[in-house]
Amino acid sequence: MREDTLRYYSGFIFRGDGIGFSEGTVAMEDGFVVEDGSPKNFGSIDGVKNTRNAIIAPLFFNAHTHLGDSFITDPPQGGLEKMVIPPDGVKHQRLRSTPKKLIGESILRELKFMASSGTGFFCDYREGGVNGLDAMNIAKETGKIAGFDIPTGLVLGRPTAGLDFRELDELLELSDGLGLNSLSDFSSDEIMEITGLVQDRGKLFSTHLSEGRRERPGPAVECNAWPLIHLACATDDDLRKIAEAQVPVVVCPRSNLMFSLMPNVYRMIKAGVEIMIGTDNSFLTRPDMYAELDVLYRIFMHMNRGEIDGIRKLYHSSLGIPLLEFGRKYARGSHRGKFETGFNIAVNGFTEGAQAVYQAINNSVGAGMSEIEYFIVNRASVMDVIDLRTA
Ligand SMILES: [Zn+2]
Repeated sequence: MREDTLRYYSGFIFRGDGIGFSEGTVAMEDGFVVEDGSPKNFGSIDGVKNTRNAIIAPLFFNAHTHLGDSFITDPPQGGLEKMVIPPDGVKHQRLRSTPKKLIGESILRELKFMASSGTGFFCDYREGGVNGLDAMNIAKETGKIAGFDIPTGLVLGRPTAGLDFRELDELLELSDGLGLNSLSDFSSDEIMEITGLVQDRGKLFSTHLSEGRRERPGPAVECNAWPLIHLACATDDDLRKIAEAQVPVVVCPRSNLMFSLMPNVYRMIKAGVEIMIGTDNSFLTRPDMYAELDVLYRIFMHMNRGEIDGIRKLYHSSLGIPLLEFGRKYARGSHRGKFETGFNIAVNGFTEGAQAVYQAINNSVGAGMSEIEYFIVNRASVMDVIDLRTA
């Protein structure tokens, strides 16, 4: 019955499209937003459940993960090359010697963690060729059978070694595209051939770039790579070129810091680069978007103390809204990032558990709608989030 499932939430609602938060009320029914409007007087509505003082926003989009390596327990000694760079980094040795069922279990564990911590969408860069993609499918199937509500994902494959057209064909058949370790693993002719194949199938082609050392952005831009991952060692000139080409950059600050690197988000924003946020290798960094935003916020403050607009931008970059761009270009018709009635959107709710966030907003001198993002980034954690679809 409608009365049993219909529920109203009033408070600060994030509507995206440059608006950010505004006051209002949304009605949810069976996981769908059925109404979105101005604040309501609940005294006049009989028999309808309502929750006041909520902060409501789309779920996070974790734009860069490697979820299959969380089974690895080696301590992070020896730097980037020794730990994560293929083919002989510790991570790749472990992946090669581990059954895909175990890798699948690792993935499922991380998917469940993401679902319980406010992330609704992700883009995973599978390693290990077809086996790596199989492991993701094992995780998804197991999750489905067990009835878990797991996030919506784009899954990119990666060739095991060199250019093998049969392997590439199979990878593209089974995935949403390719996510390479680095363009420099291939000759420029090979890259042309690979991107031709990807484009023929209308899929996504993405790559890591300038993570531990600077790489020229030209080749990545020319082959329409989208998005680019890291750019921790990019120059201002590189960032301008990337901004001009309108290619988003996914920053993974906690991952970079493990290897004495740091993405210069301040310079990226100044250069006009569109930023997305990812958590990278799950054996080093759990896919916790609150923690990622927290670190990013501190880096931003360190670089340019107090520029609230930049922090707001970082928060907006972390939400499911960028998935619309993925959806339009490549994904399989997911509308879950869009805050609009009639869609089965996913929403983060901060209610009683987030009193500190609420108090900060209400007590802060001069705080207004434009600063809510700042208080969420500064104060909220996974402990504060509830999923309003299931609350
Ligand atoms: Zn990565």
